[in-house]
Amino acid sequence: MTDRKAELAANLGRVTERISAACAEAGRKREEVTLIVVTKTYPASDVRLLAELGVRHVAENRDQEAAPKAAECADLPLIWHFVGQLQTNKVRSVSSYADVVQSVDRKRLVDALSRAAVGAAREMGVLIQVALDADSDERGARGGVGPGGVERLAESVAEAEGLRLDGLMTVAPLTGPYEGRPRAAFDRLMEISSRLRVAHPAANMVSAGMSSDLEEAVAAGATHVRVGTAVLGVRPSLR
Ligand SMILES: *Cc1c(COP(=O)(O)O)cnc(C)c1O
Repeated sequence: MTDRKAELAANLGRVTERISAACAEAGRKREEVTLIVVTKTYPASDVRLLAELGVRHVAENRDQEAAPKAAECADLPLIWHFVGQLQTNKVRSVSSYADVVQSVDRKRLVDALSRAAVGAAREMGVLIQVALDADSDERGARGGVGPGGVERLAESVAEAEGLRLDGLMTVAPLTGPYEGRPRAAFDRLMEISSRLRVAHPAANMVSAGMSSDLEEAVAAGATHVRVGTAVLGVRPSLR
């Protein structure tokens, strides 16, 4: 085993252990939580090692970086999630590799994704990104739609050809009333998810929690955690 593979294996072991402990603490089954490894800024060679180590879900946040990486890894049995702010002019490219787009926050993006999915003759999963620090149906500074805008946007995803409404995603706010209170933020997301599932019972994915707050997300009821740093290391741009 190469040094890098051993390092990734050890990190993955620690993260998996944290998820298991959080599930046990919350009285949840381990299978209820899926780990998505966020591979942004790391090379395709790392994605390949992760796949060898049993990772099945990976996420990227910039099309410019993700498109060539996904192409290099096209032979691997991976599910690709797109989690970054998305411009409509990148939608066609993203739809060529993304299985799930987690950052959908406006009608124009829904329409563009639907056209691209139909054009590519494939179905894409969609999560509505919720900006818990935004008012009603405004958009958040880091993307996402305010809680009041979720239902209407969900309706347009459900009606859009080529798209499948899978659920909700959030990033714990760094400012505002939820600053330093990820558990409260994730509890609020779960409330919005419960309400959404009344009309859309299959939209039961809840993507929340990252390296620093995955325990809080699992405790609140998240079905998917998105972990970068704790698996791959501190990103080069942040060193
Ligand atoms: C980068 C990123 C993550 C992972 O964050 P870490 O703190 O490195 O675990 C999760 N979600 C989104 C949307 C991201 O952009």
